[in-house]
Amino acid sequence: MAPKIYKTLIIGAGISGIGCAHKLSENSSEFRIISPDIGGRIISSENGMVQYGAYYVMSIYHNVASWVNKGRRISPSKLMFRKSNHSYNILDRKLFTHLAQLIRLVLILRKFKKHYELFKQKSVYGSQVTCLKNDSYLWDLYNSDAESFIEKNKIKEIVYDYLAEVLHGTTFTPLKNLNAFTFLHFSLPLIVPIYEFKFKKDEVLKSIKDKWVRDAVEKIQYDHDHNRYEVLTKKQKSYFCEYLVVATPPQISKKLLKLKTHLRKTAKAHMFHLSGRIKPDWNKGEEDLFEDQNRMLAIAHQKDNSYLFYTTEAKPDFGKYFFNHKIIKHIFWNPAFHIGGSNIIDFIQGEKLFLIGDNNICGMEDSYIYGMYVANKILGKALD
Ligand SMILES: Cc1cc2nc3c(=O)[nH]c(=O)nc-3n(C[C@H](O)[C@H](O)[C@H](O)COP(=O)(O)OP(=O)(O)OC[C@H]3O[C@@H](n4cnc5c(N)ncnc54)[C@H](O)[C@@H]3O)c2cc1C
Repeated sequence: MAPKIYKTLIIGAGISGIGCAHKLSENSSEFRIISPDIGGRIISSENGMVQYGAYYVMSIYHNVASWVNKGRRISPSKLMFRKSNHSYNILDRKLFTHLAQLIRLVLILRKFKKHYELFKQKSVYGSQVTCLKNDSYLWDLYNSDAESFIEKNKIKEIVYDYLAEVLHGTTFTPLKNLNAFTFLHFSLPLIVPIYEFKFKKDEVLKSIKDKWVRDAVEKIQYDHDHNRYEVLTKKQKSYFCEYLVVATPPQISKKLLKLKTHLRKTAKAHMFHLSGRIKPDWNKGEEDLFEDQNRMLAIAHQKDNSYLFYTTEAKPDFGKYFFNHKIIKHIFWNPAFHIGGSNIIDFIQGEKLFLIGDNNICGMEDSYIYGMYVANKILGKALD
């Protein structure tokens, strides 16, 4: 019997795969999505209240907005900045000493936001790489390192007193490894409200329930005689398709597609979800953020009085921060994401073969948009 040939197979049901699946669904285009889970790096505690992977959404995440319920606002006034010998909050004297730098930084971020928002809009219908190259301001940022950009724009003190800690806690990467685009992208929370969120996993599940194949892909091959892709899975099944969308994390996509391209540098971190009694010194804000050289990355105080503890150490000294503690969950994010440097991967990898995800630009909203773009490409609605 001739095998069933699906129009599209999506591999991976993280937010990029979901973006693609949703757009195809809306247009009644046939597909299956093969993945061991739904949500990927959007993963939460059993009651869904504490986010173990992606942690915040920005108010400008217009596309993923329908899949999340916004929670508590993460307010800059509740951040505690931790240097080796002292700590301070946003309203410290430093802010006023560097007022001119702060104004310069805000103006830069406003310019970046304008370009970035337009780039996102265009990326729904055009290739991410082309859209980035077509905006010379963003393209130059992507290919410049953050440190030179900071030096050139004379914003060093304000950055190293505040933003370096925020970036260290959110990218798990020292500033010197970031490009200027990523630096500004992850600094947007200075001018854009950000919120904790709850992922509407049940609604996602409902929308793709009949299309989800719970399995993992082990091999991809192209059948030249029949012009179709064959996908072989862990459960030893074969699936065939005309269009193939690989929406796995970059290091897995690289392996599946046997890519020679170098990915961006990885960032890794241990995340511990803890309950316990925190010491008073560590109970002054809602988020503790640590400087670049520290192995501690962040402590996020949860609404239910538990804590998310991020560090590069597998066995941190919890006793420094807690009178007593219990580990509810430990995840070693290895990698958490690819974020260092400027290595770009093209989404179009061959005849009817697409690779999406967060190698080039990290974050839920961007990943979702690229899923939408690839769906538009399959539907013949893209502009390129
Ligand atoms: C700790 C942490 C904190 C973060 N914080 C934020 C944040 O605050 N805000 C933000 O916007 N972003 C944040 N991010 C980044 C964000 O989570 C990612 O950029 C985004 O979720 C990537 O989505 P994706 O679909 O490309 O990849 P993933 O979410 O990794 O999804 C990939 C999918 O592929 C599946 N898969 C893997 N291997 C196979 C296989 N062999 N066969 C089939 N399927 C497979 C996986 O199971 C998964 O479902 C964070 C990430 C981490 C790890």
